[in-house]
Amino acid sequence: MTQTPDNTKKTPSALMLPDAEGYFGPYGGQAVPPHLKAIMDDIAQAYLKIRETEDYQHELTELYQHYVGRPSPIYFAKRLTEACGGAKIYLKREDLNHTGAHKINHALGEALLAKHMGKTKVLAETGAGQHGVAMATACALVGLPCEIHMGAVDIAKEHPNVTKMKILGAKLISVESGTKTLKDAVDSAFEEYMKDPDNFFYAIGSVVGPHPFPMMVRDFQSIIGREARQQFPEMTGQLPDYVVACVGGGSNAMGIFSGFLDEEAVKLVGVEPSGHGLGKGEHAATLSYGKPGTMHGFHSYMLQDTEGEPDPVYSIASGLDYPSVGPHHSYLKDLGRAEYHAIDDKGCLDAFMKLSQLEGIIPALESAHALAWAMQEAKQLGPQTSILINMSGRGDKDADFVAEKLNL
Ligand SMILES: *Cc1c(COP(=O)(O)O)cnc(C)c1O
Repeated sequence: MTQTPDNTKKTPSALMLPDAEGYFGPYGGQAVPPHLKAIMDDIAQAYLKIRETEDYQHELTELYQHYVGRPSPIYFAKRLTEACGGAKIYLKREDLNHTGAHKINHALGEALLAKHMGKTKVLAETGAGQHGVAMATACALVGLPCEIHMGAVDIAKEHPNVTKMKILGAKLISVESGTKTLKDAVDSAFEEYMKDPDNFFYAIGSVVGPHPFPMMVRDFQSIIGREARQQFPEMTGQLPDYVVACVGGGSNAMGIFSGFLDEEAVKLVGVEPSGHGLGKGEHAATLSYGKPGTMHGFHSYMLQDTEGEPDPVYSIASGLDYPSVGPHHSYLKDLGRAEYHAIDDKGCLDAFMKLSQLEGIIPALESAHALAWAMQEAKQLGPQTSILINMSGRGDKDADFVAEKLNL
């Protein structure tokens, strides 16, 4: 039986959800066939047991510190703050992590879990290649074979990431079916996974998919929020008034939000891409414009047609173009504990250039969405207000694209 948590009390703590069936209120769950449900239950059990062991905790903590370079600092963006003329803007620097983004936090957690479960191969799909590079890195580190499925169209577009995955020793599978992009890569990786799910591990790249993935990936990313909850008051004597993060699947946002969920005075803001218009296929602002539906094995807000099929999506930031969103975010939206806004391509590019030229920090296009919203709000808020933005990644990967786009 699925239980709906009693939300007449205060907002439940981040780590008390989901329930045993993987539900965050009405969202999440395991909308998969029975044989797959059994496999997911196995992974959930193994995870809950292994994460309590000292070996696993110690290994992960050591890697975060000595391999990733954690804790990532919080930086006060003085010139950007002055330029916006209002609230103080701070950045949580996930862009300084090894491999350049927050994804390494969950890639290491998943690779270690696969290793402890005695799996013989890790499988993943990738769109722009960011999740693929993070998994290839983590698998090289723990010594597990890694197979990345990627659409042929994406392979042609994302050359640097393709090269990196090969150098890191991953086997790259070029997917030639359908539109040869992310969704076909998911189908292909999944088909391979089902050949031997007892020995293979399918590493999902955000807080999405069937239970236990939304919970596990959030737990791995919660290191961001735990650090920030401690660092920010040490630095300023107070909690931030706003915590802001971009939302694709929602993992970097869930990571930083989880440190502040119980602090009701802290406003949590997720920023989605409104792309280049609000018509079908022109954006990927799922929580802003979608409605509840089911895909990829879980129930959540979703951009969908009248038959419940996922809509095509678009964003200038390829890490944000997903037609669903992590179920925990859907629940936080309904509870009113977090709010979600959208920023378009133009706002994103403007913030990308401003941060680069005022602070010498080139952000990922994904992160630039969070930045754009914060810059826009900062103007209207006084200097007593503080905004903490999660800089989910660095923009090296986007530099050539932006230069071309803006004729630099
Ligand atoms: C993948 C990616 C994202 C989007 O993923 P979430 O699961 O929503 O965090 C955001 N920023 C960067 C830099 C990414 O690589």
